[in-house]
Amino acid sequence: MTTQNAEKIISSAMTVGTPFYFYDMKLLRQTVAAARAAAANPMFRIHYAMKANVEVPVLEVMREAGFGIDTVSGGEISRAVDCGFNPARIVFAGVGKSDAEIDLAIEKGIGCFNVESIEELEVIAGRARALGKKARVALRVNPNIDAHTHHYITTGLAENKFGIALEMLDRAIDIATSSADIDFRGLHFHIGSQITTLRPFEILSERINDLQDRYESRGIRFATINVGGGLGIDYENPDTNPIPDFEGYFSTFSKCLRIREGQEVHFELGRSMVGQCASLITRVLYVKHGLEKQFAIADAGFTDLIRPALYDARHLIENLTSDATETVIYDVVGPICESSDVFEKDTTLPLTSRGDLLALRSAGAYGSVMAMQYNCRSLPRSVFSE
Ligand SMILES: *Cc1c(COP(=O)(O)O)cnc(C)c1O
Repeated sequence: MTTQNAEKIISSAMTVGTPFYFYDMKLLRQTVAAARAAAANPMFRIHYAMKANVEVPVLEVMREAGFGIDTVSGGEISRAVDCGFNPARIVFAGVGKSDAEIDLAIEKGIGCFNVESIEELEVIAGRARALGKKARVALRVNPNIDAHTHHYITTGLAENKFGIALEMLDRAIDIATSSADIDFRGLHFHIGSQITTLRPFEILSERINDLQDRYESRGIRFATINVGGGLGIDYENPDTNPIPDFEGYFSTFSKCLRIREGQEVHFELGRSMVGQCASLITRVLYVKHGLEKQFAIADAGFTDLIRPALYDARHLIENLTSDATETVIYDVVGPICESSDVFEKDTTLPLTSRGDLLALRSAGAYGSVMAMQYNCRSLPRSVFSE
């Protein structure tokens, strides 16, 4: 944490009250600029995967950067449109799109449905016909690739619920290309999240190359290839690596993916865009001396940031107000009546006291969006710092 941010946080805590998410908007803008610069190929299109963070100031930065937007619900489509995104730059994924969501998407004229099953494809064709419109569709392929990430955030394995199995793709493409109600655009992939090496993206590119060769020999061309998102961030060292390796990421695709003439390549980046720009700020209510452990009991819990409880995720914790040189090992826990309400066990902090402010770093992605009101708690607030 920079001293400047720490000072702003300490003064915000007096006025806003804890817990709250603190956004470093300058870092967000730098991150977005780095991604844009690295994706300089004119056929590359970035869509921000908005499920990572839907705060309006964040969405505005994405819109101003000229990004399209990746959505996973009707609610997200409406929010994106309200926020001024061009509907033609909205893509819509998800294994369980309802009829009402499909109708909304067709009526808004979104850029593309990323279709996850043959059953869904048939429903979308039917709804489009009823509305007298054509639906633009890409087929989400499950390429059976292990992204070597946590089992809850891997999505490209045959056992996962996402996408159309390679064995069923022929039939899906037949239906999509022969339906009068479908404008078939191409293929979509998304193999998982928090992917920290580039190797899975190389394997994905090779898989796509094989598929393109195979279908091209049958006269089928894809106007777009959408490689999804998944680029990870450095949760351990947010100050040394505040901006992900966008250059490595985009150049992997430039090198490995055999892009066809006139073909657009779409990227759906969520976590890598917003993960590092926010911290969850919480005040220590009690330091409880247990029989075997010391507990730092914070006023934020999994209702504010569920990633540790949900996927064993680790967020670096800093004490912003202690100036002690002595360190102590704590379990940093929340106030909620569940044993899983633990941010981190056995973490070393400077000697911590009641009233200290803690920052849980790298909380910009899948943090505030998953906040809930269990125990009748209030939702955490947000502070946007320029
Ligand atoms: C969640 C999601 C993304 C974004 O994933 P990140 O790991 O946050 O980059 C992209 N595409 C689809 C279809 C998704 O569901």
